[in-house]
Amino acid sequence: MSKQKILTIVGARPQFIKCAALSKEIRKYFTEIIVHTGQHYDHNLSDDFFKELDIPEPDYNLNANNDNSISQIADIMVKLNVIVKAEKPDCIVVFGDTNSTAAAAIVAAKNNIKLAHIEAGMREFDKSIPEETNKLITDILADYYFCATPTAIQWLKDMGITNNVYHTGDIMIDLIERFRANIESNTTILKRFEIHQQQYIFATCHRAANTENKQHLEEILQALTAIDMPIILPLHPRTKKAIEQFNLSHYLEFENIHICEPLGYMDTQALIMYAKMVITDSGGVTKECYYHKVPGILTDKQTEWVETVQEGWNIQAGPNAKKILEAYKNFKLPLTQNNVLGKGDAASKTAIKLNELLSEILKENSFN
Ligand code: UDP
Repeated sequence: MSKQKILTIVGARPQFIKCAALSKEIRKYFTEIIVHTGQHYDHNLSDDFFKELDIPEPDYNLNANNDNSISQIADIMVKLNVIVKAEKPDCIVVFGDTNSTAAAAIVAAKNNIKLAHIEAGMREFDKSIPEETNKLITDILADYYFCATPTAIQWLKDMGITNNVYHTGDIMIDLIERFRANIESNTTILKRFEIHQQQYIFATCHRAANTENKQHLEEILQALTAIDMPIILPLHPRTKKAIEQFNLSHYLEFENIHICEPLGYMDTQALIMYAKMVITDSGGVTKECYYHKVPGILTDKQTEWVETVQEGWNIQAGPNAKKILEAYKNFKLPLTQNNVLGKGDAASKTAIKLNELLSEILKENSFN
């Protein structure tokens, strides 16, 4: 009997990383077709990750790199619908909260195809954050929910969603575990920046809520330039553009600021692991600094990774220079960590459960 078919949707950097973890496991049970929506298309946000993380080549590329979210979601929906009708998958798998996630969720529902949401149930409780509407749409339409944390399960429950909700742990941890030896031995990247372990800060900033708001972006840059340590700041193309448009480029000329192009996965992990501290608005980096037991200051308005803050490994400062600097000066590391993001077996748990669920449907259909 031929294997059931999964259509996996990716479009942005964190989704390539999550797909790298899941694809290997999915392929043990299913035929997987990967669709790249083209949301991120720069080589250092896309192609490089496929090579570095050994992700199978996408079977389709939708080239939907439109410059506003409405036309992007519409474009992905129209193009993906054609593929779904031709491929007739048994299930569509989506990750996280991007425009690609929400667009694929609508296409799955309209075609009556099962939808599995990886990293389901996350909430920031603020619809002005662009990712929030994507999360809500996807969770309303999903059939199967794979949750990274107990809080996500609770948030789904608060919406009345309790069926087919599974706690797997976070899938990004799987990949760090897989590449741990390569990450630990990667000191070349420290040499490139002429920095030493524990003597620099690793920083990222790319969330639309920060890059589309001059005050937020300037507060973050003010804080970074006031810190008495080298700051390694890989610039997301969106942030680079925003800094130019808002005339904030002078902040990048401070002696302690080392900017660079977006980095590869192993280099980023090594820079997080060996940093004194991390300052970030990235959901992925929030979890990774927790995993590496490096204190993190969070500059997004809210975080959905509340457990990392409750345990004291991350401080929620928001886009506020004063609060960021206070956190930097007064950070007291907790003595323990409860591994709230799991043990690095989220991908295998997800694939096993999906196989169980979809086999059940196959059985039911064969009786009808
Ligand atoms: N990342 C990377 N290179 C960089 C910055 C981040 O490989 O220059 C990785 C980071 O370690 C994490 C992922 O990209 O695994 C997070 O993606 P991003 O910050 O774009 O999105 P978010 O997690 O906020 O959705």
